[in-house]
Amino acid sequence: MALKILWQIQETEKLQFRLEKQLKEDEVAKKLRDIKHKIINMQERVKGIKDKDNNLKHKGDILEQEIAGLNQEIKSINERLYTDKNTNFKELSAHTKQLDKIKTQREEVENKYLGLLEQREDLLNEFKKIKVELKSAQEEFKKLHKTYENKRANIRKVLESIPTARSELIESIDKKLWLKYLELKKKYPDPLSRVDKGICSGCHIGLYTDEINRLKKEIVFCSHCGRILIPGNSEENQSAC
Ligand SMILES: [Zn+2]
Repeated sequence: MALKILWQIQETEKLQFRLEKQLKEDEVAKKLRDIKHKIINMQERVKGIKDKDNNLKHKGDILEQEIAGLNQEIKSINERLYTDKNTNFKELSAHTKQLDKIKTQREEVENKYLGLLEQREDLLNEFKKIKVELKSAQEEFKKLHKTYENKRANIRKVLESIPTARSELIESIDKKLWLKYLELKKKYPDPLSRVDKGICSGCHIGLYTDEINRLKKEIVFCSHCGRILIPGNSEENQSAC
């Protein structure tokens, strides 16, 4: 009976160790960090696109003003051409040349403006694409974070219950046995070793027949590693402990 309680204590300690480790190096936490990194990266890309688009818009406004100015110039030359009756051939030719020059200039500016619109269109498409990815990453993060927090809360709850459960178990066992357990604990994480088919599961060395026989009536220590032996399934039926 005492060994079974001691075994329970050891299992509780193992569980505590495992849960504390889980809290420290959680796979989900790593995944959450990766998603967070991805989100920050996408947010920076979105900001970059907005900045670039603002810059293009500003350039576009300047080009629009330029086009309006050129239209105005064309309009006034045309007016002069058609309303001034006293214009001689030389002046007429100069006006026409000037008009062609400005029209070519306007075409160049308009082409520049169209190219700019295309760039803005591409940016908008990229923006929409990232926004969809960003939304999905944010949703994934939110969902995973909730699961992660619930899981951690559950682990903490179990961990909090361990000290009391452990104290209660300790109180019910023999002091000498407990002290021996603590002494061995300095050397091994598992001072209690289950015997499996005549082999100590702590050091994996076969036990002497005498040791196995004694398991039936007393507390036996492994003659190789010194661990406290607890009968396994094959030895349990014959054991008194
Ligand atoms: Zn051993």
